[in-house]
Amino acid sequence: MDTLESRNPRIAFKLAEVDRQIVKIASKDLARQQNSLMLIPSENYASRAVMEIQGSILANKYAEGYPGERYYNGCEFMDEVESLAIERAKNLFGVAHVNVQPHAGTQANMAAYYALLEPGDTILSMSLSHGGHLSHGDNVNFSGRYYNVVTYGVNAKTERIDMAEVSRLAQQHRPKLIVVGATAYPRQFDFEAWRRIADSVGAYLLADIAHIAGLIAGGVHPSPVPYSDVVTTTTHKTLRGPRGAMIMCKAEYADKIDRAVFPGLQGGPFLHTIAAKAVAFKEASEPAFKAYQAQIVKNAVALAGRLTENGFRLVSGGTENHLMLMDLTSKYEKLSGRQAADHLEDAGIIVNKNSIPYDKRKPRTTSGIRLGTPMVTTRGMQEEQMHLIADFIAEALEGRQKAAIKRRIRTKVQELCAQFPIYEYLLS
Ligand SMILES: *Cc1c(COP(=O)(O)O)cnc(C)c1O
Repeated sequence: MDTLESRNPRIAFKLAEVDRQIVKIASKDLARQQNSLMLIPSENYASRAVMEIQGSILANKYAEGYPGERYYNGCEFMDEVESLAIERAKNLFGVAHVNVQPHAGTQANMAAYYALLEPGDTILSMSLSHGGHLSHGDNVNFSGRYYNVVTYGVNAKTERIDMAEVSRLAQQHRPKLIVVGATAYPRQFDFEAWRRIADSVGAYLLADIAHIAGLIAGGVHPSPVPYSDVVTTTTHKTLRGPRGAMIMCKAEYADKIDRAVFPGLQGGPFLHTIAAKAVAFKEASEPAFKAYQAQIVKNAVALAGRLTENGFRLVSGGTENHLMLMDLTSKYEKLSGRQAADHLEDAGIIVNKNSIPYDKRKPRTTSGIRLGTPMVTTRGMQEEQMHLIADFIAEALEGRQKAAIKRRIRTKVQELCAQFPIYEYLLS
């Protein structure tokens, strides 16, 4: 029979037949993901189902526009995919309008600003050095160039956001937009209090829940939806979907937000990724996902408790979510976050360096590391394993000058990881 394959043989070749080099690199990273303890709080293992649809024929289609109003023909099924993703997201978060097209969290924030602000308008957001995100107005980011940014931080003593200070800054600077959300903040947000401050100065409230979206969907962190004008999130962190993002908003901002994403900032949507988002939203609406999110938090509390027992000080004294910041100066005055993260990598434990509030070191060096439990929890690890991991971290940092000690811990890490295999269907 005359098939696409017979007419154009290469199109049917398997990846391993086309490009052994890239297969080899990916296999090495699969082994790394299997054999290391991944404690970076912004990462996760997406499900097989999510990855299957993301690597599918849905990637072949241009579909600029929105369901029912595309600039290309042949979009009937693209409309079905995108509508399904939107419906599921609306149900999951109980929100009036969702745009599932942003390619990443930074693009989602960019679109929200583009929709609500004019260049030069004032944004009040959390400073990067206290846990905010680059896209909240940092001066190396587009947001710092186009908007007038005023930042709040955490109180030096409590290391929590001081709402009285936020309120004072809002009164003083009259921002048009207040951004609540962070990338390295271990405490919960009281979104109702943020709404009150925004209302007191007539500002829009944008909640960026990139890190905690899964916790919110799983019911273990309060939702910003009732209090926010716009909510942005990534889909690949605790939400455990494909790399990407979405914007949720009140019905009155729907048109503005949609026009900001397309044609404002993006061209064709990634329908293969949007389909994978739909799958992730389905997974996130199941009871098992609630249990998963609850376990993430229990594991974080267990890890934090044991690290504290090992003599490490945690910023704000602990955690209420999926992550924690460890202040290394409390135990090792000379050890920077960068060095600590490298020593831990030698021992098979992957973390990232992170500034602590009022850090005396530069952002490239830092005095802290950031640790999170989403990935180890996806693997099925529980409190018992968190205690082991905290002890591995303490031993590796104590023995950091001795390669043999780090090697010994690495072996123990691999033994632990072997008990909790990832993607068994790929490993076999
Ligand atoms: C991760 C993150 C983002 C951006 O996500 P990208 O997809 O990397 O652009 C935005 N805001 C916060 C708070 C984040 O943690």
